[in-house]
Amino acid sequence: NTKYESACFVFNSIVAFTMLILFSMLYLLEINVSVNKYEAALEELSRIANIDSLTGLITRRKMMEHLKMAYEEEKNYSIIVCDIDDFKLINDTYGHDCGDQILINTTAIFKSIESDNNIVCRWGGEEILILSFDNRDKVLSMAEYIRKTVEENKTVYNNKEVSVTITMGVSRVMPGEVVDDTIIRADEKLYKGKNNGKNCIIK
Ligand code: GH3
Ligand code: MG
Ligand code: MG
Repeated sequence: NTKYESACFVFNSIVAFTMLILFSMLYLLEINVSVNKYEAALEELSRIANIDSLTGLITRRKMMEHLKMAYEEEKNYSIIVCDIDDFKLINDTYGHDCGDQILINTTAIFKSIESDNNIVCRWGGEEILILSFDNRDKVLSMAEYIRKTVEENKTVYNNKEVSVTITMGVSRVMPGEVVDDTIIRADEKLYKGKNNGKNCIIK
């Protein structure tokens, strides 16, 4: 009879509708999980691109963003290029692992001066670059603090005390100069410091 048929129809409709809702919810859940995984993967990629895995300092790539911003905002800034002295000799004498340990300990000293005004990156193998928005005097005293602290710091490796020194070139942006010009001037000063007996700051 028709009453029974109507009841069946209503019942079937409710079942079908409930199933539809359930599957839609499952599908949404699935999408949500995928999006979360995708976001986590993106975050991991960005971390790999921006943070150096050995030292924990930001990478050269990330520093380029800071430099570009400093240039675009027409800020006054200094560049300090630092290079560990005779690092190849350290590797050759004590081994690459010891070199790595020294690199970690040395960069820890640089990390101690990190602030909104002082951005530190691993520029290359044993080279560190600081972008500083502090005034000239502060920049030079900070450079001297780092140079001296690195010199006094000792890394114990296989019961041996090993220490390194660094040479630094400091330049301050000049009117009309692009970032690369300032870095090149700092690099030239670093080179001068290397020829002047190392373990020094050339401004
Ligand atoms: P200088 O005083 O002129 O700077 O001499 P140097 O020996 O430090 O310079 P050079 O450019 O000849 O050698 C740099 C060395 O740094 C060679 C390279 O193997 C080493 N190095 C670069 N990155 C790393 C690293 O991540 N770990 C270790 N252990 N060594 C590294
Ligand atoms: Mg070097
Ligand atoms: Mg070196």
